[in-house]
Amino acid sequence: MYKTAVLKIKRDLINNKNIEIIEQTKAIKKAAELIVENEVVAFPTETVYGLGANALKEKAVLKIFEAKGRPTDNPLIVHISRREQLFKLIKGCILKAADKLIDEFWPGPLTIIFKKSSRVPQITTAGLDTVAVRMPSHPIALALINQTELPLAAPSANSSGFPSPTHAEHVYSDLNGKIPLIVDGGICDIGLESTVIEIQSGQVNILRPGAITIEMIKGVVGNTHLVKTINHKEHVRPKSPGMKYKHYAPSTPLWIVKKSSSITKILKKNDINNEKTLIIVSSETLQDLRSNQIKTKIKDLGSINDLDYIAKNLFKILRESDLEGFKLILIEEVSKRDIGIAVMNRLTKAATKII
Ligand code: AMP
Ligand code: MG
Repeated sequence: MYKTAVLKIKRDLINNKNIEIIEQTKAIKKAAELIVENEVVAFPTETVYGLGANALKEKAVLKIFEAKGRPTDNPLIVHISRREQLFKLIKGCILKAADKLIDEFWPGPLTIIFKKSSRVPQITTAGLDTVAVRMPSHPIALALINQTELPLAAPSANSSGFPSPTHAEHVYSDLNGKIPLIVDGGICDIGLESTVIEIQSGQVNILRPGAITIEMIKGVVGNTHLVKTINHKEHVRPKSPGMKYKHYAPSTPLWIVKKSSSITKILKKNDINNEKTLIIVSSETLQDLRSNQIKTKIKDLGSINDLDYIAKNLFKILRESDLEGFKLILIEEVSKRDIGIAVMNRLTKAATKII
């Protein structure tokens, strides 16, 4: 059991006795000291908050799995701040396509899978002979990796299975007492986890969609490589072990409402047009629904023309809604274009039903 400290980077006047407001460099120094001592620390990245530890130390990485309650067959992403760090982690040379993608998208929300070197312990990669690596662009994440001079294994800093944390408060609510420190750097910019890819001869497989979209990847390697999103149902043994687990889910049952479905008909047919139901819809649908006789609470997911905003706020809305005592949450499908593909990927994994 830890007494979890929160170091809030000095940017406003909010205060609370659990929270120490501190200069960024001091917060990073404290966090780095803990990591060097084989502890785990939560810190912001541009995707979601990460729970980081020395990726090369079994003892440290084990603490990540313990704090999150994460199954040990689900491998972690290793975060680096300089390209040279990659050579310690991987075996063999970097394929040309990987090189081009790194040039274009690092630092940023793209994770690439490589053959692993023997320096990376089995626990970090859940026994796989490959290692997933990313260079985050968030200045606090980069500064922390630089300060420790270590590659950091860092999955999302939530309890396993729950929506990923996009605010330090989310980390606190899941991991209070289980980790020694949270560095609070405010809201994460993207709000969804990184795109995960593997590169084979002539093919780039997207194992998890994210802010780096299929079109963006095609734009870089489309002349030489077939770029394909892998649907985990296509594999008996999932390529990315994380694919097989239920993820991102609130405790309240969640139904995705397809664009072709009528919300009012669904409410009537299932006898759920009451205050125990929450519906989360786009700003545009919300306008349409106002004229109907809806008795449920309605929340605004954001405009269909601003998928980045929807992505950034998705996990926050799911977490908040979960605490409000509804029996059922209905959420409207978004367009499967750009980051909307990643939004729908997370929602589909979180949902109990698609209607
Ligand atoms: P998270 O840390 O929660 O963002 O999840 C990391 C994701 O990357 C999971 O879906 C993992 O299964 C995937 N991943 C990590 N390492 C590998 C690897 N070596 N091969 C395939 N997928 C991986
Ligand atoms: Mg996660």
